[in-house]
Amino acid sequence: MATERAEVSAPPGYSEHHTGYAIDLGDANDPETDLSVDFERTEGFQWLEANAAYFSFELSFPPNNEQGIAYEPWHWRFVGDQDSLETFYRARSNGDRDRRNSSDSTRPTGKTQR
Ligand SMILES: [Zn+2]
Repeated sequence: MATERAEVSAPPGYSEHHTGYAIDLGDANDPETDLSVDFERTEGFQWLEANAAYFSFELSFPPNNEQGIAYEPWHWRFVGDQDSLETFYRARSNGDRDRRNSSDSTRPTGKTQR
């Protein structure tokens, strides 16, 4: 079960749980919504949306996230210190830079330095 879940929700390179900064949350009053998109309809999720940022947590995979990961309303990550920020944002900004570089290549070839 746990293995299956990991395969479904964490493609290679995108598992955040191994970083120690990610956590899956559920609503004890609606346990049937655990690890389900239905979790977004619970009071627990409403609370998270309103308050998680105050505790430096953010939703890792909101709908239509740029990583292309399925929406996971239950999966939150801590981004409240330098190490966690570098863990999550260095990788992502490198990807952005790659993408930007490829569009940069449409610039006239020539000395773009300086
Ligand atoms: Zn998770």
